Amino acid sequence: MPVNEVPSSFGEADVLDVAVVGAGFAGMYMIHRLKGTGLSFRAFERGDGVGGTWFWNRYPGARCDVPSLQYSYSFSEELEQEWEWSEKYATQPEILAYANHVADRFDLRSHVTFDTEIVAVVWDADSAFWTLTTSAGDSVRARFVVAAVGALSAGKEPDIPGLESFAGMTLFTNRWPKDGVDLTGKTIGVIGTGSSGIQVIPVLAEHAREVTVYQRTPAYTLPAQNEVYDAAYLAEYKARYREHRAKARSTRTGLLLERRPEPALSVDEAERRRRYQECWDAGIFGCTASAFSDIVGDIAANETAAEFIREQIRDIVRDPAVAEDLIPRAYPFGTRRVCLDTGYYDAFNRDDVRLVNLRRDPIVEITPQGVRTASAERRHDVLVFATGFDAITGSFTRLGIVGRGGVRLEDVWSEAPRAYLGLQVSGFPNLFTVTGPSSPSILSNVLVSIEEHVDWITELLQHMADTGARTVEADPEAERQWYEEAAALVEGTLYPQADSYFMGTNIPGKPRVFLPYMGGVNAYHDKITQVARDGYTGLLFDVTASSRAAVGAEGR
Ligand code: NAP
Repeated sequence: MPVNEVPSSFGEADVLDVAVVGAGFAGMYMIHRLKGTGLSFRAFERGDGVGGTWFWNRYPGARCDVPSLQYSYSFSEELEQEWEWSEKYATQPEILAYANHVADRFDLRSHVTFDTEIVAVVWDADSAFWTLTTSAGDSVRARFVVAAVGALSAGKEPDIPGLESFAGMTLFTNRWPKDGVDLTGKTIGVIGTGSSGIQVIPVLAEHAREVTVYQRTPAYTLPAQNEVYDAAYLAEYKARYREHRAKARSTRTGLLLERRPEPALSVDEAERRRRYQECWDAGIFGCTASAFSDIVGDIAANETAAEFIREQIRDIVRDPAVAEDLIPRAYPFGTRRVCLDTGYYDAFNRDDVRLVNLRRDPIVEITPQGVRTASAERRHDVLVFATGFDAITGSFTRLGIVGRGGVRLEDVWSEAPRAYLGLQVSGFPNLFTVTGPSSPSILSNVLVSIEEHVDWITELLQHMADTGARTVEADPEAERQWYEEAAALVEGTLYPQADSYFMGTNIPGKPRVFLPYMGGVNAYHDKITQVARDGYTGLLFDVTASSRAAVGAEGR
């Protein structure tokens, strides 16, 4: 039975077969795939447009750090041929324009209810439906819920005393005003030096009267070496686009990047430096970490890469004291998300950019005038918070998901963020978590991971229609095994040595667990493909008597 002839309960007028939460890159592709199934569906999006992370993170300087030609959908050859990326690393407006183009080209927008935040998602075991409630108090029932909410979309609110008292303008990189904001001539304090802070700071410095950077943990960042794409390169790349896509999928990261097989200390220093310099000059995310086999596995190997980057910082930053404060030392290279920047270290050579090392001079409070640290109060017109996200789990738990027996996802994951294959949680039937915990998610080119998950979910829905299954959920034992398998991969690596959002430590109360699956996009693909091929091992299906009869009547 094709999926568009699913039993009647799937097609009731006032219920949906599938509710998709989010109209970012995952939600948009889910809509596109659902359009081909005949299932009734609708997406709900809290913003007033598509694009997800690229809809919200509109801060000056925002751009991707995966090459644009790779950070794009692969599902349509026509799309990849017709869309013209202008730069190696597209800016946020260009990526958002791409999202809008995709929405128009594939008629996705009419399937989305915008300005609609889902605040509760509750399972009813008797009817086997989810009820989704919006912040406006409306509700809709759906057989399946695809949470396509992004791994980095629940902002981390800065927990700094006095924040509410600040009399100037407060801005957040993860929800920058849609119409922009003129910061010319302002005195700005920036809190947070991850990818967002590192991108926004040099651009703010060009316009502001003065920028003070409050840095708690310095990041390892390499120059993006961004460039305008030339026509010949684009034509050549596009002529072999399929080949490039297939190759990217066969790597650990979903990027056109192979990890070199030899350990760092197996070559001499000159060769190590040559490779690190090559990566520094290339401006390719993940290049340095892939320069040798053991950069995130062996501390001595890691130090060689870390020390190379420290040298570059000392070279660029003229004031040696500032350079020393910008140098990361407290955690191994690559165990927190490495950044790519445009002019970050150079910005500290400006007279109007200051660095406050919060490890030495911690913030005491925010005052009506600015920021008081242990040593002084500094006055600001504007405070910019680039304080990050409740990564990988926060965007799901904030949906208020309540599964079988009234159990809250938030409570289940507060002990251990388990999800079988990163996609399904035991006790939460018919719920799918796109790029969820224990999947490659943010360790990968997330566009590859999104397409992988959405395709897999679509095929599972087809399988359920074919077999008359009403519900599907993770077998707790399979879920436990997957979780332990994923955890075992991290043991013996350097990742647990760092406090990071990978480890959940940026959010108070979150368990200290490495959240993404680090076995690689390629190994993960093999695993979930095999699971499907073997009849969805590790998933439990509930086939009702009526749907069995319906399937039987069609001679299956
Ligand atoms: P982030 O990497 O988590 O950085 C947050 C920063 O805020 C950290 O430096 C953190 O310091 C600091 N911070 C948080 N609370 C603080 C407090 N109370 N006082 C002082 N400092 C505080 O977040 P992000 O920069 O938004 O980046 C998150 C991820 O989004 C990136 O890793 C990347 O995956 C993605 N992203 C990508 C791009 C891109 O180029 N494509 C751009 C932006 C973001 P501590 O570490 O000491 O807590």
